[in-house]
Amino acid sequence: MAQNYYEILGVDKNASADEIKSAYRKLAKKYHPDLNKDNPEAANKFKEINEAYEVLSDPQKKSNYDQFGSANGPNPNDYFGGGQGGARGGGFSFNFGDIFGDLFGGFGGNARASNYAIQGRDINVKVTLSFEEAAKGVKRDITYMCTQECSECHGTGAKNGTEYKTCPDCNGTGQVRFTQDTIFGRVTNAGVCKTCNGTGKAIKEKCSTCGGSGVKRGQRTTAINIPAGIDDGQVVIARGYGEAGSRGGPPGDLLVSVSITKHPLLRRDGYDVLLDVPVPFTVAMFGGSVVIPSLNGKLELKIPENTQSGTILKLKGNGIKQLNKNAYGDMLIKVNVELPKLTGKSKKEMQSILEEKFPLDKFDKFNNYNKSVKSL
Ligand SMILES: [Zn+2]
Ligand SMILES: [Zn+2]
Repeated sequence: MAQNYYEILGVDKNASADEIKSAYRKLAKKYHPDLNKDNPEAANKFKEINEAYEVLSDPQKKSNYDQFGSANGPNPNDYFGGGQGGARGGGFSFNFGDIFGDLFGGFGGNARASNYAIQGRDINVKVTLSFEEAAKGVKRDITYMCTQECSECHGTGAKNGTEYKTCPDCNGTGQVRFTQDTIFGRVTNAGVCKTCNGTGKAIKEKCSTCGGSGVKRGQRTTAINIPAGIDDGQVVIARGYGEAGSRGGPPGDLLVSVSITKHPLLRRDGYDVLLDVPVPFTVAMFGGSVVIPSLNGKLELKIPENTQSGTILKLKGNGIKQLNKNAYGDMLIKVNVELPKLTGKSKKEMQSILEEKFPLDKFDKFNNYNKSVKSL
């Protein structure tokens, strides 16, 4: 690996030649082997310092190092990422992306893979749905900022979408050759033509709407069908509704992540809808009905006589539609029997009547339970 010569000398990247020299002198004195006879580390350190100074004190080597991370300049084998050993042969490394950016004006280390089409990026948006909307599905208009193909030139960047000529820089080949002086001599390489981005075509007259870029950034509204049964945190993907691609690449996707607001009474368990309903003990004892909310509006729920607290009543098929299936969950209603709160005289009266009518030995489940407890 390349060493950071600036770090070795303890100087800033923008240090002047004099600063570098003075830093070197100080360190060289400190680590000189003659002065460090019983410190074997010092010899290595001394070597490092000298190596760093050798490069940073030579304007040509320093410039190569700054640009390529190597005193020897780039290794020609590495231009397209395929070099065997690459820059390591020189004992240094350099940043491939930086070089490409410098030579070709900014498409970085991906240049080989991205000669032509590049897919646009995905866009992430959030949407908040009510409990019912998520359960039953909903169509939502989603507005977001996005680059889109220019409609005037159909993304070509050329006036009327047709005003082309052969690229003068590459004569229509899409490739240019360049030479580079390296330690291996003068090397010629081919790369993507920056003028036409490898298409071989050049725009004769730019589209006035997009200024030749082929894309326009602006607000976009897309209607998204959110399917019934979607759950909190799930993502709906609208293919092709993301950022426009470049050089003929397809657009990215629009990723809509769903968050669902809480319902005041209903809860969700998978595709089932849960509800706890308080039921007066008289209704639970003698039967009756309560009104409940549901995905299909308000319903009257029959409470059979002698319904115990904790009983779960099921309304089959009244739950949430299963995602991408023609099937529904159930609605499960838990009965919580509510006892009246008695005080004063009525409490005394009620107690004596009820204890007389319902002595403890009349409660079968209670008595069975007590037997079980005793046998433990
Ligand atoms: Zn245009
Ligand atoms: Zn060209």
